[in-house]
Amino acid sequence: MIELPEQLIRLGAQAASKDDAIRQVAALLAGAGNTDPAYLQGMLARETQANTYLGSGIAIPHGTPDTRHLIHRTGIAVLQLPQGVSWGEGGEQVRLVVGIAAASDEHLDILRRLTRVLSDDDLVERLSTTRSPADLQEALTGTRPPAAAPAAATASLPFSAQVTLPNPLGMHARPGTALAGLVRKLGARVRLTRHDSSQSADALRLMEILSLGLTRGTTFTVSADSESALRAVTDAIRAGLGDDLSAPQAAQTAGQGRVPEWQPTQVGATIEGVPAADGLVIGETRQYAARELNVTDQPGDPGEAAKQLDSALTDARGELDTLISRTRAQYGEDKAAIFAAHQELLGDEGVVQDAVNLILDGHGAAWAYQWVTQERISQLQKLDDPTLAARAADLSDVQRRVLRRLLGVGEERAYEGGPAILLAADLTPSDTARLGPDALLGFVTAQGGPTSHTAIIARGLGLPAVVAAGTGLLDVPDGTPAILDGSAGRLYLNPSEADLQSARDRQGVLNAERDRARAARHEPGATRDGTPVEIAANINRAADAASALDAGAQGVGLMRTEFLFLERDSVPSEDEQEREYRAMAQAMGERPLIIRTLDIGGDKEVPYLGLEREDNSFLGLRGIRLCFERPDLFMPQLRAIARVAKDHPNVHVMFPMISTLEDFRRARAVLDGVREELGVARIPLGVMIEVPSAALLAPLLAAEVDFFSVGTNDLTQYTLAMDRLHPQLARQTDAMHPAVLQLIKLTVDAAEAHGKWVGVCGGAAGDEVGALILTGLGVRELSVSPPQIPAVKAALRQHDLPALRDLAARALTQPNAEAVRALLRP
Ligand code: PEP
Ligand code: MG
Repeated sequence: MIELPEQLIRLGAQAASKDDAIRQVAALLAGAGNTDPAYLQGMLARETQANTYLGSGIAIPHGTPDTRHLIHRTGIAVLQLPQGVSWGEGGEQVRLVVGIAAASDEHLDILRRLTRVLSDDDLVERLSTTRSPADLQEALTGTRPPAAAPAAATASLPFSAQVTLPNPLGMHARPGTALAGLVRKLGARVRLTRHDSSQSADALRLMEILSLGLTRGTTFTVSADSESALRAVTDAIRAGLGDDLSAPQAAQTAGQGRVPEWQPTQVGATIEGVPAADGLVIGETRQYAARELNVTDQPGDPGEAAKQLDSALTDARGELDTLISRTRAQYGEDKAAIFAAHQELLGDEGVVQDAVNLILDGHGAAWAYQWVTQERISQLQKLDDPTLAARAADLSDVQRRVLRRLLGVGEERAYEGGPAILLAADLTPSDTARLGPDALLGFVTAQGGPTSHTAIIARGLGLPAVVAAGTGLLDVPDGTPAILDGSAGRLYLNPSEADLQSARDRQGVLNAERDRARAARHEPGATRDGTPVEIAANINRAADAASALDAGAQGVGLMRTEFLFLERDSVPSEDEQEREYRAMAQAMGERPLIIRTLDIGGDKEVPYLGLEREDNSFLGLRGIRLCFERPDLFMPQLRAIARVAKDHPNVHVMFPMISTLEDFRRARAVLDGVREELGVARIPLGVMIEVPSAALLAPLLAAEVDFFSVGTNDLTQYTLAMDRLHPQLARQTDAMHPAVLQLIKLTVDAAEAHGKWVGVCGGAAGDEVGALILTGLGVRELSVSPPQIPAVKAALRQHDLPALRDLAARALTQPNAEAVRALLRP
């Protein structure tokens, strides 16, 4: 059954025309999150195909079938026009506009009721003039809401059943989110009530669900407003709501099977995701690019509304001024230019003029501004051109900035920092790169995976991070006191004073460990019995070289050159690239520098390159494959590297995404040509082992390369066929899976047979368990995020090589990653 909340009813409205009425009703649906604002186009298009006048002064505008994908949630909205508006050629006067966004057939019930209303003239008259939304709610949904809906109203739900929670980890955020999502999809009202206390929760609200603290085996009652909803919900709960019910309780806890070393005892709620970067922090939460701004039309005095718009635009310009100077000082002119372009968009005369026209027509300022900007954003998005899509994103950013001002909503200060734990649906690698590590405490994302490039950047910034925590995260209000445990993959909300104290104590222990490791960070990496293992840094920019060296880096094992392309909006020239590589080579002195050629594709999108969108971007023209297709990108890069290599023998080159012997030979031939052209002698040349075929071909490749570097992030995703960004698979996408370790062993054996060395530059190298097992397998270089260097060195110093070899041999025979990790648990 469809609900009709008051928010979706507008009484006493006026409309200048039929289109205007449709616009207003579409805005109600979009404002409540039922549809994308672009759904309006579908509603307008539908009117050109068929008049939606129903009879008796009622019209039911709705979108065309091809705009159905713009519906987020089935719903209806009602615009009451007591003075009526002319609808169609026949001049029919419409006084009730019932906008319908129907993803399925749930709206048929409403239509049935409407046809009953049609035959009752008195009722039509009442509904067209009433001042009480409840009259409309009752007529259209069959239920009259109580005068002041008390929170407990949903407790009197007629159908109920008892269930016992089967989830090994209890009702944590992921199943909680799945439950709320199901209830939302069913359009049902559902409540959960614990048996041992009378505490109950609305199943639409994740925070309430989590606060029940349901653990495995807890019995509770599910009540619903229909038998079918009750059945669907109880079945879903009994099936585990997406959790693996066979998982042993002991191996339960945090992602990748890590048992938290510290746990609070009395927190309001726990949100669990997958560990992406270690660390324990205490702070308040803040949403990034928060939820939808709720814009409703508030018609008023046009003069007043125009003034509001003017002052919002002026304030937004001031905000951008501050942002430009701060960004220029912290990150350079090219990044500041992004916000200068926002100022241009802000001043666009056409936008301002159209918004003012709508205001003069009687619309509120926020509604008018949203309407005109949204129209342009949708147009840009429709063009399916990545550059224009990026402009659409910029315009959305500007739109939000102005709307926040108009609605009096606080500023999103995500990349401007602030001592907070940032919560976000997801972050792009460039978002993450823009975040200020000084002021950010850490972050949690609803989506993403631990080997996403966002997570990699978090480790680089030394920020604790948790990913794949589920969308319920986005309901956490700003300013909620919290403890973020990156190692356990958990965010604890509203901790008690005792827990805060215990977290501070734990921070003390961790800090002492870190201080010890830090004090010894400049010692060369080695096992306790003295086998050298070089600990290098994964860094992308020369500007980070000094801090990497300060962290104890013995070289750079992976320079991801694509980041030179990602953090700007045009291709860096050959000279610019040369300057950057040279600065990096100089900073490293004698130490090795491994420059990886461009690895664009997958989750590293560079909008301005105008690349075609691919259905499976991780399996398409990525890395070396793209370079073969785009000599305009590949050749200047190779020339820039070769020029630097001529003066700096520490420069190594490595190709990403090699999957065949021919790939390597072809790439080497191109580099050989460039070297000849520039008169550059040999450059040590390696390939990344990140595709299973490359590992299987290692015996052949080893004869021709100088070294291998295993990219465990991709090797894991391609071996297990699990997208490294997939939130539901994030827990299983673990490089410690024996299938992945077998491929690494193959690689090491092949390299040793040819006297070559193997490094690892994927995330597994910086994970303590990973570092130990990889060393046991024969890997002799680990390239990790700079903040991880001291801890990895410290971990290696505690073990002798024979013990690590034995550990690795046992790891290879385990059934899964969890069992491999368990080998190192005391
Ligand atoms: C990897 O795949 O492990 C790797 C180091 O490369 P990237 O993470 O940049 O894809
Ligand atoms: Mg990779």
